[in-house]
Amino acid sequence: MRVGVLALQGDFEAHAKLLRALGAEVREVRVPADLAGLDGLVMPGGESTTMTLGIEREGLAEPLRDLVRAGVPVLGTCAGMIMLDRAHLGLMDTLCARNAFGRQIRSFEEDLEIPGIEGPPVRAVFIRAPWLAEHGDAVEILAAVDGHPVAARQDNMLVISFHPEIAGEDRVHELFLRDVSARVTA
Ligand code: GLN
Repeated sequence: MRVGVLALQGDFEAHAKLLRALGAEVREVRVPADLAGLDGLVMPGGESTTMTLGIEREGLAEPLRDLVRAGVPVLGTCAGMIMLDRAHLGLMDTLCARNAFGRQIRSFEEDLEIPGIEGPPVRAVFIRAPWLAEHGDAVEILAAVDGHPVAARQDNMLVISFHPEIAGEDRVHELFLRDVSARVTA
């Protein structure tokens, strides 16, 4: 499985490390040519304005849309979840509220039950996290905090507003790699 990690900005190295530990071959994506032949893509957390500028600068918006529309599984975390919404790449029928948990609560941890993930709850680390303020019928909400969706799925897109990669939590990536491998072997 060849998985790309968008590496313009943000904590892409932590994702790459985790994916390699789970057996994926990882390629850092900085320019459109890096998307060729990928079986999956992770869009990491970071800062969504900077990431948007990077995507524009490198001419990555349309190639990223083509990849996702072709059905390649994508995992978007935090700023990556923002990138996929209606106001950014427009791939998911969602609208994110940035820094939604408020200035006071910049970071916090929570245990979440996520369908498809067995065993103890997922330890979720939130850092200036967004939530889904709006979503269409095609979006399945997987987990919420205080009634606000923080994990969701639509077609081949899985989004979470927290950071499993810094909590030693590998089961969300495992869930994503299951989608990747299902498509590769189909
Ligand atoms: N608050 C950031 C933004 O809006 C996202 C935070 C994160 O990715 N951890 O871009």
